[in-house]
Amino acid sequence: MIQFVSTLGGGSPVSFETAILDGYAVDGGLYVPERLPRVLPETLQQWANLSYPDLAFEVVSLFIDRSVVSEAELRQLVQDSFSSFTHEDVIPLRPLKTDRGLYVMELFHGPTLSFKDVAMGFLVNLVDFFLRRKGQHRNILVATTGDTGPAAAYASIGKSTLDTWLLYPKRMVTEEQERQMTSLSEPNIHAVAVENCPEGGDDLDFVISQLMDNASTKEKYGISSVNSINWGRVMVQTVHYFYGYFRVVDRVGERVSFSVPSGAFGNLCAGTLAREMGLPVEKFICATNQNATLYRIFEEGVLVKRELINTPSSAIDIILPYNFWRFLYFITGQDAARLKAWTQQFKESGELRFDTETYAQIKRGIRAAFVTDEQTLALMKQVFAEEDYLIDPHLAVALSAGLSLRNELPEDGKLICLATAHPAKFKNVVLAALETDELPAAAVHPSLEAAKESFHNVLLCEQPALHRALVHALEQTKRRAV
Ligand SMILES: *Cc1c(COP(=O)(O)O)cnc(C)c1O
Repeated sequence: MIQFVSTLGGGSPVSFETAILDGYAVDGGLYVPERLPRVLPETLQQWANLSYPDLAFEVVSLFIDRSVVSEAELRQLVQDSFSSFTHEDVIPLRPLKTDRGLYVMELFHGPTLSFKDVAMGFLVNLVDFFLRRKGQHRNILVATTGDTGPAAAYASIGKSTLDTWLLYPKRMVTEEQERQMTSLSEPNIHAVAVENCPEGGDDLDFVISQLMDNASTKEKYGISSVNSINWGRVMVQTVHYFYGYFRVVDRVGERVSFSVPSGAFGNLCAGTLAREMGLPVEKFICATNQNATLYRIFEEGVLVKRELINTPSSAIDIILPYNFWRFLYFITGQDAARLKAWTQQFKESGELRFDTETYAQIKRGIRAAFVTDEQTLALMKQVFAEEDYLIDPHLAVALSAGLSLRNELPEDGKLICLATAHPAKFKNVVLAALETDELPAAAVHPSLEAAKESFHNVLLCEQPALHRALVHALEQTKRRAV
């Protein structure tokens, strides 16, 4: 039986079902599997030609006992979760013409045009599956800097086991993202625009943690989370590293590098777990914008919070990369006691400087770069001109970071840059980058155009009142349900 434990070592091990439904562990840590499964070279060989859904089935099977979800049920869940993707490959790989060995992995062909769809559809389907089996209802609280909210909303459509609350900092998400959240008239989906969030999504995460850390509140309202604190998200995100790898290698065993635009570090954390499991990775490039918390960790050995800067790559305008703790847990050999001490120290002093030995482990096979707004926009323009390919600002960050560190990779090595959003979600950035008033056709998407024609269905709230307002709203939902 695969069990799940907290990164902080508290509580007792729980089943996969509990880890998924509860989100946070009881001691406020993050759930992780007791041990990571190993994928042997023979298995990699056998997986090499699988379609994305079949590969997803194999990878997630390593974490889920058949007694918890049967093989047929899991196949159905996987099938349902990726059938909403519009590309036949689900996650296509695109070689760049101007640079041999450089590939883009497009993760944005899901219903809300961002990489969040990749794991969210599956996770929400899984939560719904468990709740139906238990005859229960949950309130899902989602904090979003733009893409998580829409993905959670679309994944929750028609699910009577769930009420989904989408909290976003007003004016810090793009108009297109806001529309995706507010244009749905589904009785179980509630968009909440929050004013006064100087720290952006972190101000919302804070309120959610307050609610979730209070065991009686959490229990009373059946609160759950599908943010990337949820193990289910990170688990599914390991799959695309395997998939992308198989699409570009000449032979299994070859080492490949990945450049990943990173904010909360869920995506790249998943990549490092895939590496621990046995995927042959040369290097990871952790690409950030000027909110360079992760850059300081990997290049300077210090975790320190700075003020939030708004950039064109707004989905990674994040100052606290909470999934870094999961990564740290595994690279320290699952040392929960040290994680607990570090967490405490960081809480008290707002800074954590890693000792030489830990820092060496952290840096192993990972480089980081931060990219300025000017570099981001200039690269969008350049790639559009040279490749006739419109890229979004997050891919621009990944590509720019990748190119700046290319000389540190083996000369004939392959580099996969992760494209995490469709450019149509960032129209104003596209216009600024291309220095034009006329949107290219590639920046228009029918689903976003349709969302414009609808009502704005949204609640408004000031950040200091958010906790109280949410409790009130949850209370009303509870009354309605009985
Ligand atoms: C969420 C997101 C990211 C960052 O992913 P993390 O797992 O938070 O590091 C990057 N790009 C886009 C477009 C996103 O929506």
